[in-house]
Amino acid sequence: MTTFHDFLRGNQRFLLTGHENPDGDCLGAEVALWHLLRALGKTVNIVNPDPIGRSFDFLQRHTPFSHARPDEPLPDFDAVVLLDCCQLSRTGLLGPRLVQKKPTFAVIDHHVGSERGDGSICYVDSTAAATGALVRRLYRELDVPLPMAAAEGIFLSLVADTGWFRYSNADQEVFAMASELVAAGVDGSRIYDALYRRNHPDSAGLLADALHRHRLALGGKLAIACLDKALMDRAARADFDTDAVLDPLRSLEGIEVVALLKERFDGTVKCSLRARGDVDVQAIVATFGGGGHKKAAGVTMRMPMAAAEAAIEAAVQQSLLALGGTKRT
Ligand code: 5GP
Ligand code: MN
Repeated sequence: MTTFHDFLRGNQRFLLTGHENPDGDCLGAEVALWHLLRALGKTVNIVNPDPIGRSFDFLQRHTPFSHARPDEPLPDFDAVVLLDCCQLSRTGLLGPRLVQKKPTFAVIDHHVGSERGDGSICYVDSTAAATGALVRRLYRELDVPLPMAAAEGIFLSLVADTGWFRYSNADQEVFAMASELVAAGVDGSRIYDALYRRNHPDSAGLLADALHRHRLALGGKLAIACLDKALMDRAARADFDTDAVLDPLRSLEGIEVVALLKERFDGTVKCSLRARGDVDVQAIVATFGGGGHKKAAGVTMRMPMAAAEAAIEAAVQQSLLALGGTKRT
């Protein structure tokens, strides 16, 4: 059986990619793997389905990113590594273009069930807090020293997926890695400022308007916010991350689940669920074809917003009932 190490050592030209709208974990893990493969003497290109968001552009001072453009050929590659997701369907229109070249597909991921994804070879641990933490493990296993740029990528992965060390996945490995990364020179507060303190002037208004779209349901256990195309368009123009509404809603006493529904330009609805307490939101979105973790999961729903809203509310209600009950108010 080929080990993941053999896969990395045995191929020469790699293409690294991840899910649409790459987040901090996905991008940070790509940065770290890019530098690992370069240290092993490989040719590596990061090609994502979407451009790197403005708040992440500080990564480009040490790591080159590109995204797939329909009118431009892809760089040459023999092996593809999917990071922070395990299905080619999550890479949008890029997926079929990758398949055409018949590369070896590998997966590095920490989502539930990722060993059953599209990789013929996997490096998966669903107990890991972030994909970046898995790439850190690979450095150690291959005995490659961690360069500063990779340390910054891994730090970004950790803070992205643990909510700056606040979520229940912020375990001992996370704090031990963070300590080592800071010792290696990573400046956490500079990364924080780069990510969150360069917001467009309209972003405070956008946050207020997005929060206004929420309602409480199921006896105050579900907070659900629906953002229509008009608001999403305004958010896109201001490069505003609408996920900012999740935390204030999650802070309300009595809340078990927060649902954020965003209307996309292609008519689909992107639904993000966050749990507090015992509800398993990964199990809820799995019934609609999505995935993620027990306390943070997502899915793209091919139905109008009102139908998606009703379906999510019903599914959350079922799950609460199964856990011991609530009555619709
Ligand atoms: P978010 O709600 O922030 O998009 O995602 C929460 C978690 O669920 C992340 O770990 C993300 O990778 C995962 N996730 C989001 N959308 C999907 C989806 O459509 N399919 C799968 N399998 N996982 C998703
Ligand atoms: Mn992740």
